[in-house]
Amino acid sequence: MSQIVYVNGDFVPAAEAKVSVFDRGFLMADAVYEVTSVIGGKIIDFDGHATRLQRSMSELEMVSPVTMDELLQIHRDIIEKNNLVEGGIYLQITRGAPDVRDFAWPDPEEVPCGIVLFTFDKPLVDSKVMDEGIKVISIADERWGRRDIKTTQLLYPSFAKMQAKKKGCQDAWLVEDGFVTEGTANNAYIVKNGTIITRQLGNDILHGITRAAILRFALEAQMKVEERPFTIAEAQEADEAFVTSATGFAQPVIEIDGAQIGTGIPGDISKRLREIYTEEMIKAAI
Ligand code: PLP
Repeated sequence: MSQIVYVNGDFVPAAEAKVSVFDRGFLMADAVYEVTSVIGGKIIDFDGHATRLQRSMSELEMVSPVTMDELLQIHRDIIEKNNLVEGGIYLQITRGAPDVRDFAWPDPEEVPCGIVLFTFDKPLVDSKVMDEGIKVISIADERWGRRDIKTTQLLYPSFAKMQAKKKGCQDAWLVEDGFVTEGTANNAYIVKNGTIITRQLGNDILHGITRAAILRFALEAQMKVEERPFTIAEAQEADEAFVTSATGFAQPVIEIDGAQIGTGIPGDISKRLREIYTEEMIKAAI
């Protein structure tokens, strides 16, 4: 069965899904996106992703082409049309396609935002990474300053990930003014003496939907949480490290810039948080 994609109101086979070369998402990365995971054909934390999407659009003065109820229905329809059981839904809203390339934004009354969704299969619950953990490098954070808005400007994170791959690692932790901001596509954490430490929210990191849930579950499980910046040196001395994202859940980090973290195998707190997250999110899936 060919993949079915949603483009501006229509469900079409992927090969027929087209957007204009004048689309500002294509020309200027003038677009926001969300990735939401699906387990057992159900959506994980739709409300969290829909709320962040609305915030991203409002920060950039974009007018949503759909209501959030319509968006939920589109998510359900695309799951069904692709027989998606486990994996994710990628959603992108762009500022549309005016006739001319211009730095100034078009009038939203004349040029409506465009919307595209597609699905992908990915094993989420049983993940090899969970048993093995990942290795990361550190690299300067050279992204723009509004990382709290989930835009499609992903060239620097993509560049950073390639630097990690060249060094035999799976990801990079980004460092600004001596402190870790986050991973290329995830939020970063360390654990020291039972306390979970992660950077506080601000414009310098994406407000991870998984991060919010993980911290909530950690507090409910009586774990200690500190929201503050940490350095690579502190991370290398930590007992555990891990990252969180919608399709990665919580993934242990076992090496940072060549230094083994803790015992060099996924830590107990990271594992426990992943278990709780998986269980609770499956229960709440819609
Ligand atoms: N930080 C960045 C830069 C990301 O790109 C992502 C996800 O794509 C995250 C954090 C994790 O966010 P979420 O948990 O909402 O997937």
